[in-house]
Amino acid sequence: MEFGYEAMKNHARQQEIDALERVKPQLSAPQNAKLVHVGAPLGRILPAERAEELLEGLYTDGTVPCTNEVRYLDDAVCVVDYLTRLTLELMELSCSKCVLCREGLRQLHLVFEEITRGRGSLERMDYAKDVAQAMSLGCDCDFGRGAGRMLALAMEDFAGEIDQHIRKKRCPALVCRPYFTVHVLADRCVGCGKCMEVCPEGAIIGKAGYVHMVDQDMCEHCGKCLAVCPQHARVKAGRIKPRTPDHLVRAGALVRK
Ligand code: SF4
Ligand code: SF4
Ligand code: SF4
Repeated sequence: MEFGYEAMKNHARQQEIDALERVKPQLSAPQNAKLVHVGAPLGRILPAERAEELLEGLYTDGTVPCTNEVRYLDDAVCVVDYLTRLTLELMELSCSKCVLCREGLRQLHLVFEEITRGRGSLERMDYAKDVAQAMSLGCDCDFGRGAGRMLALAMEDFAGEIDQHIRKKRCPALVCRPYFTVHVLADRCVGCGKCMEVCPEGAIIGKAGYVHMVDQDMCEHCGKCLAVCPQHARVKAGRIKPRTPDHLVRAGALVRK
């Protein structure tokens, strides 16, 4: 029987191997996967095309598995939005005894949330990286250290998408509300009025049988109208917007022949 430091090291290594064996069968990314989160809600987050890297060095990078859950998220998911929700999930799981973990997770959550609301800045991102780094070194237990390390690595691995939000004011997945607008495709709308019924802002202009329009000053980008349109006539747009009529037009009048 082994004792002392060597025994602890071997035990830790065995745990890594066990964790790896548990998740291995799930590490083949589905076709439209964008991000893989192994060992969620702690563990490691990586671009899906790099999922196989985990087979070589799972948890040898300071991250800590929490479960054998593997989450695949597709193109419809925004990384910043995911990190915002994930930090909230971690805040709920933390026992909150030590300040660095409790306050660190709260600060990281706030920084990600600011970005999703169009108020992100490079200075705040630098601050978030420092906080995550401090957590990875100074938290009292594996949970806090693992969360810090995982989030620090995620900020490196997804720097491009985060940067697009901050510098270019762009959310590639069209999830963060400030970075997209909602429009009606005139050649699809049949003027049924279903979108108007659900809009909480009164931002839709139209009448039965006419192509409905969106008042962009009033629209809060909640997406409720997108979910109910039977014609899939309502779409989100980033920088490139579809051409839409600026006055009421009879439905069908603009259908391309
Ligand atoms: S690091 Fe561990 S002990 Fe400290 S608050 Fe987080 S979960 Fe609790
Ligand atoms: S956009 Fe869709 S839900 Fe709204 S009126 Fe046109 S077809 Fe109906
Ligand atoms: S996204 Fe929301 S606020 Fe905007 S038009 Fe649709 S339902 Fe109304």
